[in-house]
Order: sequence, then structure tokens, then C-alpha cells
Amino acid sequence: MTEPAARERVLSGIQPSGASHLGNYLGAQVNYVALQDQFDAIYAIVDFHALTTVHDGALLRKLTHEMVLDLLAVGLDPKKCALIRQSDLPEHAELSWIFNTVVPVAWAERTPTYKEKREDGVENSMGLLDYPVLQAADIAIYKASRVPVGKDQAAHLELSREIVRAFNRRYGPIFPEPQPVFSDAPVVLGTDGQKKMSKSANNTIPIFAEPDEVRRIVQKMVTDPLRIKRTDPGRPEVCNVCQLHRFFGSDYLQIQDGERTARTGCVETKQLLAERIIEFFRPMREERARLAADPGHVEEVLAAGAAKVRPILEATMAEVHAATGIGPRGAIG
Ligand code: ADP
Repeated sequence: MTEPAARERVLSGIQPSGASHLGNYLGAQVNYVALQDQFDAIYAIVDFHALTTVHDGALLRKLTHEMVLDLLAVGLDPKKCALIRQSDLPEHAELSWIFNTVVPVAWAERTPTYKEKREDGVENSMGLLDYPVLQAADIAIYKASRVPVGKDQAAHLELSREIVRAFNRRYGPIFPEPQPVFSDAPVVLGTDGQKKMSKSANNTIPIFAEPDEVRRIVQKMVTDPLRIKRTDPGRPEVCNVCQLHRFFGSDYLQIQDGERTARTGCVETKQLLAERIIEFFRPMREERARLAADPGHVEEVLAAGAAKVRPILEATMAEVHAATGIGPRGAIG
């Protein structure tokens, strides 16, 4: 009998720095769910990363718990994939340090998200600069070859590939080069209509917010700034409300036409969008409430996830120790 071929491994991380939002869902979470059936999939709640923006221990723990609920509710099945908390596996940080010694500072400094986050007011810490190096370690430690991420992460993935190439050049071919897996969504803009929707930019539509909260947030969205009066024609290509309709109904071209010809007003277009978002996420919101009622479930899922991935990570770290000379001479040293 021939052995079944090993499945390719997928890894992606999400920060527990706030509630899951439309950008997270459309850019990444849809693919997390799709890929768990075909691949050996690992999804990490990256709490080490979140320390760059969340500076309250009790809050970080709460947000981590909430993010696990979010991921289960959007459809991740712990029987099919491993859901892990990064800090349960501190070797991520160890490998990140080792990568730091092969990464020129200029590579980290030129990362676009580093600049964007500083503009959003995120403290310019070493951790913020080092963020993509830790991300490369998260992926490499499991030798993951595919990474479902939003298109905002394209530059980080390119950097991850450069980092593993630099490591492999110095120490030998240990790591595969990871490839991004993108969804159909472009980088989703925030409620300001200007910047990328992001927890750190405070411009999100949280997917599990209560219906009235979604209505309130959508109603305040910035639309076409040149459409001042109800009778002015709108420009759907610059109106984020019109752009978001694309994901919540097959009639978005008609909706966009209504705006362009001033047949419809921004208020109605927003009301319709809010109702469609609420309906779309209703079953997931209900599932999330059901899961949240079992207080022990999240920690059980995380413990099972850590146990599942630990042997993979230990095998990689044994190779890394042997190649770099860290620690005692091991079996393969
Ligand atoms: P945030 O920027 O809100 O803190 P994360 O850094 O935790 O989000 O990203 C989690 C996943 O969601 C990543 O794969 C990222 O590419 C994706 N993502 C985040 N924001 C967006 C967006 N505005 N559009 C598309 N994908 C996004």
C-alpha cells in the first residue's frame, strides 16, 4: 500500500486586537474556512503581535477569547484545522529572534504597513518594526507553503519569502517559500472611505456587532464627498458603500447605477447595505452566541490545537538548532 501524500500546510494569523471586521472576513476568513477541507490548516491568534497595540493584560486575554469565538462562528472546525494561540507556543518568538539575525533592518523599515500603522498612531516600538519578522517565523515554524491573507499583506508575504531565502542561504534549505492565497476581495476600505479597514485605524464594521450597532456604523460611513445634495449624481467607484454592496447581493450594478443617476440617495443605499450585512452574518452571530454560552470551550479548542501542532514545531526547531548551533547537540545535530 502506498502512503497517502502529505498534505500541503496552510497557516494564517489574526491579531486579537479588536473585533473581527468586514476586511478580516472578506480578505482572509472566507479562505480560512475554504482551505481547512483541502489542506493541513493551522490558524493562529497572534497575541504576541497584538502586544504592539493592546497594552492591558485583561483586555488582551478577553480579545483573544473573543477572536477564537469569531473564528469558530465563521466556520472553522477544530476537527479539521488547528486553532492555536501564538503565546502557547513560545518557539514562535525564538525563531523570530533567530530570523532577526539574518534580516537587514532596511527590509523591515521599508514595509508599507510599518509606515501606515505609525500614521494611525501606533507606538513606534521595536515590536512594530519587527512585526513582519515574527510573522515569517509563524509561517516557517510549521513549514507552511500557503498563507491565506488579505491583499494588504502582499508586501509582508514577499518579505517572509525573502527572510526564509536569507536563512536558507546561510544555514541550508530548511524552509519552503510561502505563497499567499488571496480571496476575490480587494483591500477593503474603512468607514472613512479613505484608509484600509483595520482594527488599529478605528474605522471598522465589526461582523458580530449587534444589528443596531451595524446600522449606526453604516449610516455614518463616508460616501462620495462630491455628492452633496440628494439630486447630485454619485460616483460609485469612489463610494465605499457602493463598493461593499458587491459582496452582499448580485444586484450591485443596479445599486451603483441608482447612485450614478441620483435615482437613489445615500441614506437608502446605506440602509440596504446595513440590512444585508446583518442578514448575511445572522446565522454566524447566532452560532457565536451558542458557542459563547460554554465557558470552557475556547480553552479546550486552544489546548487541542497546541497539542496538534507541537510535534511539527519541535521537529522544525530541532533542525534549526542543529543548523545554527543553538542548544545542545541533538539527534540530528
Ligand atoms: P487588522 O489590520 O484589522 O488588525 P489583522 O492584522 O489581524 O487585521 O489581519 C488579519 C487578516 O485580515 C489578515 O490576513 C489581513 O490581510 C486581513 N485583513 C485585515 N484588514 C483587511 C482589509 N481591510 N482588507 C482585506 N483584508 C484585510
